[in-house]
This record gives sequence, structure tokens and C-alpha cells, in this order.
Amino acid sequence: MANLNKTGVVFDIQSFSTHDGPGIRTIVFLKGCQLRCHWCANPEGQNVFPEVFYHAMNCVGCFECIQKCPLDAITRAEDEQKNKGFIRIDRSKCRHCPQLDCVQACFNDALKITGKIMRVDEVMKPVMRDKPYFRDNGGITLSGGDPFFQHDFAMEILKACKENYIHTAIETEAFAAYEKIEATFPYVDLYLCDLKIMDPAKHQQFTGVSNKRILENIKKMAAAVPSKVLIRVPVIPGCTDDVENIRAIAAFTRENNLTRIHLLPYHKLGQPKFEQLGREYPMPDVQPPDKGQMEALKQVVEEEGVVCVVG
Ligand code: SF4
Ligand code: SF4
Repeated sequence: MANLNKTGVVFDIQSFSTHDGPGIRTIVFLKGCQLRCHWCANPEGQNVFPEVFYHAMNCVGCFECIQKCPLDAITRAEDEQKNKGFIRIDRSKCRHCPQLDCVQACFNDALKITGKIMRVDEVMKPVMRDKPYFRDNGGITLSGGDPFFQHDFAMEILKACKENYIHTAIETEAFAAYEKIEATFPYVDLYLCDLKIMDPAKHQQFTGVSNKRILENIKKMAAAVPSKVLIRVPVIPGCTDDVENIRAIAAFTRENNLTRIHLLPYHKLGQPKFEQLGREYPMPDVQPPDKGQMEALKQVVEEEGVVCVVG
């Protein structure tokens, strides 16, 4: 039986998604990830704790938040201006106080919290509401972050879904200890495994971790539950999009008897979120790949005998 009282940190729940798994899906985004990919589309999912988003465009410079912060984490910006904002948050001082005094003080929606502690039964409420729309092949997808970062919480959500006959998918970096991944086999119908870069040094450079454990985990998963594993490759210009890398990923996929790869073109949706979290976006000048490049890379995958879908 699922423990419906188990709690974890969730930063979003999106209904009626047609991405990230088959059919119509409810996506539950869990906070926490061990990777730090330069192109991350959900940087608010990296740290497991709740964080403050600062929307500079909404800020009018009333400085109410400065008065309310008990830790003096907020100060006036030295170069006050509308598009860069009137305040600065010292993230090293902010302790994400439970009462969120700064967020409460802001009447202009310039400060928002990302990340909420929720129980499994609270997560299941919107999922059960959406269930009639899942029909035959839709369901829930746990995303993030990497859902394995909050393994115990993810397990209870997955169990609750299975108890309600709901199809389950996990979007993962496959970086967790293998035993944690293996423990979810009875409760997961589909693993959407990100595989980004085959060259170990480049992987370390662009994600902050080695790819050794990821490759080992995917090999073991492919041997144990091959029909449940789908490889997804974010196509990031200058990082993952060289033909050698895509060919090597396709060969690895084939050698491990997996049959499908999805190529996901880079987009810049993460950039404003980096800025709202007070972090520098590592690749401001990179532009999304064009349709011709995506088609050419699809052909490279298919030349290796692997079925390829773009998007
Ligand atoms: S973030 Fe909100 S409370 Fe703080 S100065 Fe801006 S408008 Fe005022
Ligand atoms: S969350 Fe709390 S500690 Fe952090 S900046 Fe806001 S008031 Fe200060």
C-alpha cells in the first residue's frame, strides 16, 4: 500500500500535457537533481529546497520585502532599473524561511516561491481529477529535476498510481544508484532516459558529472526491462549536436538492444528562470537548431538502425 502521508518537494503539476510520454499526461515536477546541465530548462528543479523567484519586470521598488526579511538577505540594487530590478537577493543568506516573509510582503507578484512541500495524497488529487482524460495510454509522468533525487517520495506516488491503474512514466537522468532505479521497476511503465554526451570529459564539462554511472545504469535497465526504456537526447548546439556524439549514442542504443531515440531540440525557456533565480545563464548566445539540422541528425540515428523521432 502506498504511504499517502509521505511528503516531498514539488515545483509544478501540469495537466493535459502531450509531451513526456504517450497520450494525455499529468506531469508532476519534483525538485532535486545532481546534474547541472548548462542548458537546463527547469533550473528551479535543481535544488531540492524551495527557492524565491524574482520577477524584476513586476517590481516597482517599494522595498517592503527588504523590511520583512529576517536575515537581511535582500538589499537595494546598486544599479536600480526596471529591467534588471530594484533589489538583490543574497542567495547565500536566504534560508527559505517557512513563512516566506518577502513573498508575503510583495503585492506586485515580483516575488514568488518555487517548490512546495506536498503529501502524496495532495499530489494524487489533480492526478485523479485528470484520470478520465488519460483514456487507454495516457497517465502520469514524474519529471524534475530528477525524480530519483526524492526516491522515497517518488516511490509512494508511483505506488499510489498503480493502485489506481494509472500508466506511469519517469523522466530521468539515470544518475541514481542502480538499486533505487531497480526498486521502481514494478511501478513504472516507461523510463524516459536522458542521454546527452558519450565523451566523458565533455559530459563532465557540460553537466557537472561523469557519464560513467549513467551509461552503466542504462545498460542494466536495457537488460532488465528493455521495452520500458526510451532514450532521449537534448540537441544542444556546441554541446551535444555533433554527428560523432549522436552516432555514438545511437550505436550505444542499438548495442543494448534498445530500439528508439527521441531527439529534443534545444529551446531557451530556461534562460529567464536562471535570471529569476539570480543565476547566470551559461549559454546566452546559443540558438535553437533549425529543422534541417534536426532532420540530418535523425538520419544519422536511423543509419545506425534505431527508430528516431524529433520532438
Ligand atoms: S520585490 Fe515586491 S516588495 Fe520587493 S521591492 Fe519589488 S515590488 Fe516591492
Ligand atoms: S525567503 Fe525568507 S530568508 Fe529568504 S529572502 Fe525571503 S524573507 Fe529573506
